[in-house]
Amino acid sequence: MENYEIVIGLEIHAQLKTNSKIFCPASADFGGDPNSHISAVTMGMPGCLPVFNKKVADFAIMLGIALHCNIRNDNRFARKHYFYPDLPKGYQISQFEEPICERGSIVINCDGSERNIGITRIHMEEDAGKNIHDIRTQSSLVDLNRAGVPLLEIVSEPDLRSAAEAVAYLRTIRQIVRYLGISDGNMDEGSLRCDVNLSLRPLGSLKYGTRTEIKNMNSFKFVEKAIEYEAARQLKVIKEGGEIIQQTLLFDSENGTTRPMRGKEESADYRYFPDPDLPPLSIDEAWIQRIKENLPLLPRDKKDELISVYDLSEYDADILTAERENVEYFEKVYKISQDAKLSCNWLTSELFGRLNKENKSLSESPISAEDLGTLIKRILEDVISGKMAKDIFDEMFLSSKTPDSIIEEKGLKQITDPEEIKKLVAKVISENQGQLEKYKAGNEKLFGFFVGQVMKLSQGKANPKIVNDLLKEEI
Ligand code: ADP
Ligand code: MG
Repeated sequence: MENYEIVIGLEIHAQLKTNSKIFCPASADFGGDPNSHISAVTMGMPGCLPVFNKKVADFAIMLGIALHCNIRNDNRFARKHYFYPDLPKGYQISQFEEPICERGSIVINCDGSERNIGITRIHMEEDAGKNIHDIRTQSSLVDLNRAGVPLLEIVSEPDLRSAAEAVAYLRTIRQIVRYLGISDGNMDEGSLRCDVNLSLRPLGSLKYGTRTEIKNMNSFKFVEKAIEYEAARQLKVIKEGGEIIQQTLLFDSENGTTRPMRGKEESADYRYFPDPDLPPLSIDEAWIQRIKENLPLLPRDKKDELISVYDLSEYDADILTAERENVEYFEKVYKISQDAKLSCNWLTSELFGRLNKENKSLSESPISAEDLGTLIKRILEDVISGKMAKDIFDEMFLSSKTPDSIIEEKGLKQITDPEEIKKLVAKVISENQGQLEKYKAGNEKLFGFFVGQVMKLSQGKANPKIVNDLLKEEI
């Protein structure tokens, strides 16, 4: 970027996982036949009154606390007016001057270094419907299933300085809403999307430059590509002596470019005013306290706990805390195995490896956390060897049987009785006198041969450590 700095602020929209919509009882589920999740309120029928779904405020408060925001006690909804066929009322119910959360911050980790990113505000609003343009019949169709689904809009300060930081920030917010269980953060289904605001300024300058806003990005990759393209485009305009026009852009994922969508609207264009159909919403301390007490541990705190309490590496802790279900699974495995490192290894290399291969998520795992914990416990108790455990693991993955029942069925118990192993050792030695001579003459590599023979004779069941110890004694 030569002597210029990139300045980025994100507006993230997270769709909430409530059962019903924000202002009516229609289902808020994704999908469904077109216009099957609707009510008179969704269709904007005159004379219908919206009723606020309190769960939305619960979720907003949860996120507000997680992002260290101030939670406003007096809330009001505002109408934001614009015309579009997927918005039958002619306005979107949102919050304007009185958003539920303000002035927060969140730490992001980008390429190993940490930065604090300011959160300007979080407000509650309703989603719009969807227009579908059918080329075949030359018609446009409107599906209102999504209209009225609750959203939280999270607005960041212009604190991000690169595409990598913007992606790290978006990932952090996604991880947090998923931990809190308030949104599934599914970018493919549009339940997490963001607008990227971007400007350039000369390095060292304190004044922000004119920004453009790229609308509605729904993948990390597109966010990265759009930022790279738009920053280069703006730099070119500036270097050629031109001026950046404040406007709203669309990202074309086909060719990786941005193009103007419309001139940037000002808030006055939306003719915001308090919605007279909805009473002010007051949130008292007791409400906030109740939410605080039930808040799950957040990814960052969990990560610290894994490092300090379980003595895991930062790398392992990052993998385990990437998703809340990973940590929860790990904790259940650990509860039984009592060995953190082994539990982490079996989960992250063996189980994740297998699940990946079969394109399954952890929640679809054929092996329960309890069974994986038991398998590890049996290794630690010397009932089975690490090698046998891998075979049992494969069988568990295929059949979902418990490790103990597989050990029982296949007679896989490890042989740990020294007397029994002594017999095997004696047999191998007596049958391999020639090799024994060579070993004694100084060919020490042959020790491995003897270990192999004893293991083979025991059909892999002898405890390798005891075999080694006894062999050393005998030869
Ligand atoms: P609007 O709703 O019109 O898009 P906001 O004031 O809500 O405007 O700001 C939207 C986003 O733009 C915020 O995330 C903010 O950090 C970011 N932003 C504001 N000014 C700049 C700038 N000069 N360069 C980059 N981002 C900016
Ligand atoms: Mg905006």
